[in-house]
Amino acid sequence: MSDRKDQPGPTPKREKPIIVPEGPPGYSGTGFFATSADKVIGMARKNSLWPLPFATSCCGIEFMSLMSSHYDLARFGMERLSFSPRQSDLLMVMGTIAKKMAPVLREVYMQMAEPKWVLSMGACASSGGIFDTYSVLQGIDRVIPVDVYVPGCPPRPEQVIDGIMMIQDLAQNEGLRRRYSKEYEDLLNQYKIN
Ligand code: SF4
Repeated sequence: MSDRKDQPGPTPKREKPIIVPEGPPGYSGTGFFATSADKVIGMARKNSLWPLPFATSCCGIEFMSLMSSHYDLARFGMERLSFSPRQSDLLMVMGTIAKKMAPVLREVYMQMAEPKWVLSMGACASSGGIFDTYSVLQGIDRVIPVDVYVPGCPPRPEQVIDGIMMIQDLAQNEGLRRRYSKEYEDLLNQYKIN
């Protein structure tokens, strides 16, 4: 008979860690928590960004790897991709944007509701990249305002995740009146966007 004491026992079940999202800063005491509306709204915006991928070439392929299981953009729990501009608030532009495509990109941006943010992924979207030619837009910021640029050709998925976290910071900390401010109106006027 074998000595069962020497046999390894069943593997103990690993408890899944419970991830509790960080609440907004504020004041708490016994039975109460107080904060301000802009902090609660900032937290909600940060954790409910819906990206619209505007992908035209190889950076779009890199985006697919970002979405798949290894890099798993879904770890944020808020990456509900939308191909409808009216249901998105983060425009992710990836790939070479031809000048002929620029009005389409601009139209998509204008159809998105405020507040909205723009992430430019890769050298082509940010600056035209290696395509310094008559037909390629030398950066999407010639036609729409950009919040975060992610460099690289193509950028690594970790870089894009870093860029998305920067957008999250912007969304969380943006003042509620920014979109009604003179500065924002001036910015849009520069792009002839009303
Ligand atoms: S930046 Fe590089 S990888 Fe991205 S679209 Fe341009 S050529 Fe392709």
